[in-house]
Amino acid sequence: MYDTGKKEFKRMLNRELSHMSEMSRSGNQVSEYISTTFLDKQNDVDIPSPTLREREKPMCHISGVKKLTHSSSLSNSALPRFGVKTEQEDALARELDDLNKWGLNIFRVAEFSNNRPLSCMMFAVFQERDLMKTFRIPMDTFVTYVMTLEDHYHANVAYHNSLHAADVTQSTHVLLSTPALDAVFTDLEILAALFAAAIHDVDHPGVSNQFLINTNSELALMYNDESVLENHHLAVGFKLLHEENCDIFQNLSKRQRQSLRKLVIDMVLATDMSKHMSLLADLKTMVETKKVTSSGVLLLDHYTDRIQVLRNMVHCADLSNPTKPLAVYRQWTERIMEEFFRQGDKERERGMEISPMCDKHTASVEKSQVGFIDYIVHPLWETWGDLVHPDAQDILDTLEDNRDWYQSTIPQSPSPPPVCQDKDLKTCVDKFQFELTLEDNPQSEQSESEDGGQPTPNHVTQDCGRPPEEGRNQEAAPEGIAEEEEEEEEEDEEEEENEDIIEEETEVAMEEEVEEEEQQQRDNERKAKKERLLDTRPVEDEEDEEDSSSPAEDT
Ligand SMILES: [Zn+2]
Repeated sequence: MYDTGKKEFKRMLNRELSHMSEMSRSGNQVSEYISTTFLDKQNDVDIPSPTLREREKPMCHISGVKKLTHSSSLSNSALPRFGVKTEQEDALARELDDLNKWGLNIFRVAEFSNNRPLSCMMFAVFQERDLMKTFRIPMDTFVTYVMTLEDHYHANVAYHNSLHAADVTQSTHVLLSTPALDAVFTDLEILAALFAAAIHDVDHPGVSNQFLINTNSELALMYNDESVLENHHLAVGFKLLHEENCDIFQNLSKRQRQSLRKLVIDMVLATDMSKHMSLLADLKTMVETKKVTSSGVLLLDHYTDRIQVLRNMVHCADLSNPTKPLAVYRQWTERIMEEFFRQGDKERERGMEISPMCDKHTASVEKSQVGFIDYIVHPLWETWGDLVHPDAQDILDTLEDNRDWYQSTIPQSPSPPPVCQDKDLKTCVDKFQFELTLEDNPQSEQSESEDGGQPTPNHVTQDCGRPPEEGRNQEAAPEGIAEEEEEEEEEDEEEEENEDIIEEETEVAMEEEVEEEEQQQRDNERKAKKERLLDTRPVEDEEDEEDSSSPAEDT
């Protein structure tokens, strides 16, 4: 039933994205990127013929696990202050004064920790939270594990390296301390969240799931194309516990180990960006029904509610770059674009179609960040902000300032192509209006969202960042959440069977409601947009943008 909300987000986002794709070729690329990455749809790409590979015994081991030893050099007495050897311990200490703050500069932590940001961050956070004592983790085992983990991140990958893992770990640490979640989570849940953040991208090769699938990689084969990387990160993260003196969970009870493993798997699998819409839809539902204690702390009695908050928390931390101080955010942007462009180069070399945002010759970095914030990051953080209100206000303010900064750096040169070119056929009025008619037909809309077809252009400028109105998808109130996890899983299956029927009914009913609301909303959004833009840009620019939203201007 929560899926109705998800469908509605997707539908609105599709509209918004197709609108963006008509504005210009780079806009088209941004919308392609967002819809292929965050909307759980497969990219139609020519599959190149399988390449010959040396024969390996399949599935006999988890690839990427290297033999490394750190324990020999470590003993409890000789342990450095932050777990890592460095000449700049004082400078590192100063940076780590910000350990509990959102603005910590992880780049400087890396610099002063002898490029061991993850080991250092894990050490600092576990110390700060006293987790070594609580779970009786031997110090040398802990340091050996985190060093080994850090070594299994690829230093030559521009973005998904141990710096990103350290960043997500520290961000998760800060989010865990948000006042609205005070004393909500057990120590084991906290341990699981931090561990999940630390391992969540380990052995990342610097290419996307779709690339691995399209190139018939060993990993895609291993995981049957489903959350390929995320499954692999988990396997490596857990497998490394088996290395010599690496089992940081050795003193946990069997039950604790089992629960921890379940929690971690759940959280890391939720970092698959194609799950973003489901996560956000569920989070919205939770916000709508949230209960708080008299002291303003969230009431999360059931396991299902707590794990839902945790998986969204790690997802938020994973998508937190644009919420950080601009100087930090800009460095992340540079890194992610470098990684994308390297993938694009690989695709070009192989004669594959180049993935959206991965073509260094055409990608628009600034536009992609604005689109990424408007359609993915802001809707997520805004919802998180509602959940923990008012704790995330500063984060949201920074996010909005950063968005406006990137918006202001977009080159103001004529963005829509002056003539109707082959590749930009979509911008032609004829085709546009034809598809517009199709979009208004609920039947085609249904199939669009289910088949994962290309977004259909639509004139409606509706901000999908503020989807759906309260209660719109609440016809069927959530049933009581069963205590037993097994029971829930069975229920979920049942629900899925009924979902289609319920959805079909609601979609048709919504259709009429939506149409009236749309006109109203369009006007409101326009007004709001105008006001926002007026703060940062001269009036002429803003009017340019408004004009180009009319289809006739595009041809
Ligand atoms: Zn990540």
